[in-house]
Amino acid sequence: MSQEDASLEARLEEQETFEPPESFVEQANVSDPGIYEEFEENWPECWEQAAEFLDWDEPYDDVLDESEAPTYQWFTDGKLNASYNCLDRHVEDGAKNRAAIKWEGELGETRTYTYGDLLNEVNEFAAALRDLGVEEDDVVTMYMPMVPELPIAMLACARLGAPHSVVFAGFSADALATRMNAADSEYLITCDGYYRRGDALDHISKTNEGLEDVDHETETVVVDRLGDDLEHSLSAGQHDYDELVETHAGETVEPVSRDAEDMLFLMYTSGTTGKPKGVKHTTGGYLSYVTWTSHSVLDLKPADTYWCSADIGWITGHSYILYGPLALGTTTVMYEGTPDYPDKDRFWEIVEKNRVDVFYTAPTAIRAFMKWGEEYPERHDLSSLRLLGTVGEPINPRAWKWYYKHIGSEECPIVDTWWQTETGGHMITTLPGICEMKPGSAGPGLPGVDAQVVDGAGDEVDAGEAGYLTVQKPWPGMLRTLYRNDDRFVSEYWREYSDPDEDEWVYFPEDGAKIDDDGYITVLGRVDDVINVSGHRLGTMEIESAVVGVEGVAEAAVVGGDHDVKGEAVYVYAIPEDGYEGQEAELEEQAIEGVVDAIGPIAKPENVIFTPELPKTRSGKIMRRLLEDIASGNELGNTSTLRNPDVVDDIAEQVEGD
Ligand code: ATP
Ligand code: MG
Repeated sequence: MSQEDASLEARLEEQETFEPPESFVEQANVSDPGIYEEFEENWPECWEQAAEFLDWDEPYDDVLDESEAPTYQWFTDGKLNASYNCLDRHVEDGAKNRAAIKWEGELGETRTYTYGDLLNEVNEFAAALRDLGVEEDDVVTMYMPMVPELPIAMLACARLGAPHSVVFAGFSADALATRMNAADSEYLITCDGYYRRGDALDHISKTNEGLEDVDHETETVVVDRLGDDLEHSLSAGQHDYDELVETHAGETVEPVSRDAEDMLFLMYTSGTTGKPKGVKHTTGGYLSYVTWTSHSVLDLKPADTYWCSADIGWITGHSYILYGPLALGTTTVMYEGTPDYPDKDRFWEIVEKNRVDVFYTAPTAIRAFMKWGEEYPERHDLSSLRLLGTVGEPINPRAWKWYYKHIGSEECPIVDTWWQTETGGHMITTLPGICEMKPGSAGPGLPGVDAQVVDGAGDEVDAGEAGYLTVQKPWPGMLRTLYRNDDRFVSEYWREYSDPDEDEWVYFPEDGAKIDDDGYITVLGRVDDVINVSGHRLGTMEIESAVVGVEGVAEAAVVGGDHDVKGEAVYVYAIPEDGYEGQEAELEEQAIEGVVDAIGPIAKPENVIFTPELPKTRSGKIMRRLLEDIASGNELGNTSTLRNPDVVDDIAEQVEGD
């Protein structure tokens, strides 16, 4: 490193706040700071601004109906169709030849669908589904990887007014059956297989295994992704996607005009904790909200090429690969595979090739990129990028700064977006053309979003104190209920801080947080992840952030393990960065020092265990529950929902051997 580089690096390390670059502000969709006050003064009518992004078949009467709170209703009696808003209206406006989806297959093949192409194929497939018997309000399940037929099928359902329920392709046969049974879903769209690191994976056998446990008849459509790589024959009664579309070539389906409050889709949460919940999202409120946030937070414009690297099987993919970007008429990139195939620069190759303007990914991916080293992004011209985003977990300042410097060249703002499956869209984040950024802190609540951090009694905590995150006012993208389980909807999210007798409802997302003097919120993680050391409540995320602040530590998970004296003790599991293997003793010392410096001696880790991998859910989140069991020497629970089950035994052996 030259002296100049070293001083640059040191400056970046020290810097705590970052102003959005002038070049960004000048072109930002939202750049007037008055928007915060305007939304506050004009609430809930302010949300008309979100609804105005859409074309309504019939105008709504009320912006918000609170009579059934906490089942709030938005844009009541308005009518619209989501597929019309994502497709037809852009084609009618002359954008027929603009790319809607640019798909990158893992093996290097590409497909581009213009808005015109996409509308045609959605029409044809909607006609085919209608022929198979799909009617308005029938739940159609999709069990598909990242192939273009997935968004096509979702939009075809939206066109028919049939809610979709997408089950992440990496989930088990069992998970598929449970979800289809829970929703009485009689239609399934799946595929023969897909590629992972160059290998063809069989998906249809897993599908068929799941279907055996579905307790009703189903019509199944199979997409052929593998061609001859996996010779499969359709089981009796299963339909071939291509044949269906061909049979219905040129047909169109009139978009079904849906009530604003009609269900657009069901989405089961990833299941990082407990039993999956069937989150219900609606047509008017959800679509308005994801479109408005795509405009305001992701700063998307129709001429942009935008890439969100999530899987459509998660809410991030629903809201910010599909619905938000397409409602705005943007070009959305979809990538089938993994970030390290054929090499660790695959993402940057995709950015360069497609001249991506806005890129949205997860902290876990960024930490992997850091671990691999900056030589991979350096191989590519990333100058097309204008804005970067993250979602899914808190991003620690070191990873934030790496992303800022090595991907954004210190010229792109970063939006650290806090939200959930349940919230439908972004809730807490900076507005990139207005707000100063503070690495490690997501930012203030969005305009119109009343986010507060409270103590156990529901009173606002002082700046700097840890407490519970709450949302004190409803918002259009909110879930309406847990499917067929209204009681759990209320008990899960609306019990802790509400006062039902006074008809006062407070949403509790089950995350812990801190707030600073400027109203910036740092999310500390799930409340179940708090460690209680000798009566002191410590947030795991904060300790983790201190550990990964050590140069040479790529990723860390912190959990509480049983301790005779303290009740619980802090256990750290950490992955060394490439090139730091063999230096574990030094890293351990620095990690302990880092934690003591950042939080205090009370948080001093009992044990730091280095491991090449951490157990993760299929959505890439660390499975802390398992690590807790290991630390406490408990019997290990079910590991079948993990992406990498083998790693658990390796870690357990190490801990026992320690
Ligand atoms: P489940 O609720 O089924 O256990 P999950 O909570 O992981 O799974 P998601 O809805 O995908 O499912 O994730 C939302 C959660 O992710 C949030 O509640 C929060 O804990 C975390 N999260 C998301 N974005 C951020 C962020 N920017 N900063 C901090 N935490 C985040
Ligand atoms: Mg959750």
